[in-house]
Amino acid sequence: MAWALGLIGYPLGHSLSPRLHRAALAALGQTGDYRLYEVPPEDEDALRRLMDALRQGTLHGLNVTIPHKQRAAALVDALTPTAQAIGAVNTLFVRESRVWGDNTDAPGFWADLRVQLPKATAQPGVALVLGAGGAARAVVYALLSRGWRVRVVARRPTQAQALCEHLSAATAPPFCSPVVWETLADWLRETPDLIVNTTPVGMAPHAEASPWPAALPWPRNAALYDLVYNPRPTALVRQARAAGLPAVDGLGMLIEQAALAFERWTGLRAPREALGQAATAPPRSDT
Ligand code: NAP
Repeated sequence: MAWALGLIGYPLGHSLSPRLHRAALAALGQTGDYRLYEVPPEDEDALRRLMDALRQGTLHGLNVTIPHKQRAAALVDALTPTAQAIGAVNTLFVRESRVWGDNTDAPGFWADLRVQLPKATAQPGVALVLGAGGAARAVVYALLSRGWRVRVVARRPTQAQALCEHLSAATAPPFCSPVVWETLADWLRETPDLIVNTTPVGMAPHAEASPWPAALPWPRNAALYDLVYNPRPTALVRQARAAGLPAVDGLGMLIEQAALAFERWTGLRAPREALGQAATAPPRSDT
């Protein structure tokens, strides 16, 4: 069969996903394509039509990105427990003509974090998460559900508060709490085992920006994971390494969340090496 896969979002100009999934299909000798479906934020009818195409079998699987992750979660026929807890989906797959919503960001983050920072993640600890948007929800859920305590700092404290309230309801006991930048300094020196950046700060073309305020001390014993992966290394990763922290970017998470989605759609083991090569290859002028 020819796989009909794709990505719903808006805008989608710079997505790496087509390159990744086409490479995965090619590496396994599968035919098919991965297309971009640009759906403006207010166009719910277009989302419904794409869900119908999945039910009817003309599409076999879709990724979902900004701004549709929460809207799509409300339109599917069923949610996996992870997507239900997070309240957002990044993957749609079909079982017996029903559209399921899943969130592979959470297991993708955790899988890469464990591989990249094994010492920091050998046992549950205390994490500081920067940002409180969609990716933060997946990251905080992944940590809370593995016994971590999490503090969330965001430029809008109400957003961090809402995130913690939502996820504390899904993962008992509730160990997520918001914190404001102004009171972080003393706590920071000794406490966190892990810092995770989930803001887009530092992404190309604003590559010199960092979400870590210059005057803030770096913790003595923490490791850093930056969800941003373009450029490599990010300014934040460079800053943390200069302060002596083990630090990695989010390219491995990108690959792992794609691999998990591919496996949901096709039932085939995703070729992670091919995904990795596609993610790091220089862009071709015809794609
Ligand atoms: P999002 O839902 O828009 O959330 C972004 C969060 O960052 C919000 O809390 C936002 O606050 C905050 N923020 C934005 N600009 C900021 C700034 N200049 N200073 C401080 N805070 C700022 O986006 P998302 O889906 O969570 O994605 C966030 C980043 O993670 C993106 O760069 C995305 O590419 C990356 N990501 C990577 C992977 C991976 O596989 N490596 C997976 C998912 C996401 P406001 O709401 O106040 O703007």
